[in-house]
Amino acid sequence: MAKIVIKFGGTSVGSIERIIAAAKIIKRKVDKNDKIIVVVSAMAGKTNDLVRQSQKISKNFNKRELDVLLSSGEQVTSALLAGALEECGIKAKSFMGWQIPILTDGEHNNSRIINMHVGKINRYISKKGVAIIPGFQGISNEADITTIGRGGSDATAVSIAKVFKTDECEIYTDVEGVYSTDPKHFPKAKKIKKISYEEMLEMSSLGAKVMQSSAVQTAMMYDLPLHVRSTFSSAEGTKIFGSENIDYSKTITGVTYSKDEAKITLLDVQDKPGVAADIFEPLGKNSINVDMVIQNISPDGKSTDLTFTIKRSDLIKTTKIIKLNKKKVRFKSLSSNKKVSKISIIGAGMITTPGVTYKMFRALAQEKINILAISTSEIKISVIINEADTTNAVKKLHTVFNLD
Ligand code: ADP
Ligand code: ASP
Ligand code: MG
Repeated sequence: MAKIVIKFGGTSVGSIERIIAAAKIIKRKVDKNDKIIVVVSAMAGKTNDLVRQSQKISKNFNKRELDVLLSSGEQVTSALLAGALEECGIKAKSFMGWQIPILTDGEHNNSRIINMHVGKINRYISKKGVAIIPGFQGISNEADITTIGRGGSDATAVSIAKVFKTDECEIYTDVEGVYSTDPKHFPKAKKIKKISYEEMLEMSSLGAKVMQSSAVQTAMMYDLPLHVRSTFSSAEGTKIFGSENIDYSKTITGVTYSKDEAKITLLDVQDKPGVAADIFEPLGKNSINVDMVIQNISPDGKSTDLTFTIKRSDLIKTTKIIKLNKKKVRFKSLSSNKKVSKISIIGAGMITTPGVTYKMFRALAQEKINILAISTSEIKISVIINEADTTNAVKKLHTVFNLD
């Protein structure tokens, strides 16, 4: 008798018919006598709708109240799925984050699960009940409802796998697994059967939203294998686990893209020790994540140009902070471009294969795509390009690295 956690994403519970279909998947596992914890997302589009409603009231909607609002989507699907299971003759009950409780730390709208109580749920599943838990929500030490960041139901499922020591963690979604690039937009994408935590973490962080990156990070830290698969077919999905189980026959495993980027350039910044720290310190203090940084060589040793990238949604806030800081950091002019995107190639095979970087740059040049910024790690290369070139770049790299 295995103890398993299964998570259904938004599209998988996007309508009453789909909730009933999800109940049937669960029933097959109940019939095998497994002990089951189910994590659900809100119905597809629901969380976005709620965000839009809050923004009609205020662009700076109170963060505590936003958590109360956004967590409601998952409450709805938990109850509907529990009801659907009962209709199939299966004992099932929903448990909200605060009832378990799932404890979180950090700021509203972007908390982190730090622990959860297991007693109530363990007792219930031991008595052949299916426990339904809403993803994405928990409570803070002040007993406020908190949410854990967009796409956070993945992280709830993985945390449950960790704390409840489950034998399996299955992520049911609307595609058959993790692909070499987004299969919804690139029909030539191929399903990846097995992928290492490290590569999956890079892919998630760089735009493959099929798994949320903090969920992959937790799985990697605690060595919890994941299986990403489709709610709409019984095909084997993608196994995510330690790299020792993986045979790398390809240099590149996947190509990702993110249109969530913006680029800022400061011209003629004073070139002296401490300037970069003075620019980036107030950004860090305001929770703005700086991604790539390029500093030109200073021709006269006095001033230089500095380019960096941030999330597009942080652009206005970032420019404001830099202008406010002008007494400390002098520069001639600030320009920004929010029509850029980030394209990345990811693959542990690149560690042992020389020439990947030039091959990527040559391929983009052949498409007349200009590279605006570059960053690399051991297993990935990312470039910033004009947003309009995104599709061309992904297609070209997918072909050049034999992924089609
Ligand atoms: P869920 O609601 O089930 O959590 P998401 O919408 O968060 O699902 O993630 C699934 C989506 O991720 C797919 O529909 C697909 O468009 C997108 N996606 C992006 N990159 C990839 C990739 N490399 N492999 C699979 N899916 C991807
Ligand atoms: N409903 C939340 C979101 O849309 C969490 C999730 O679906 O994973 O971000
Ligand atoms: Mg998701």
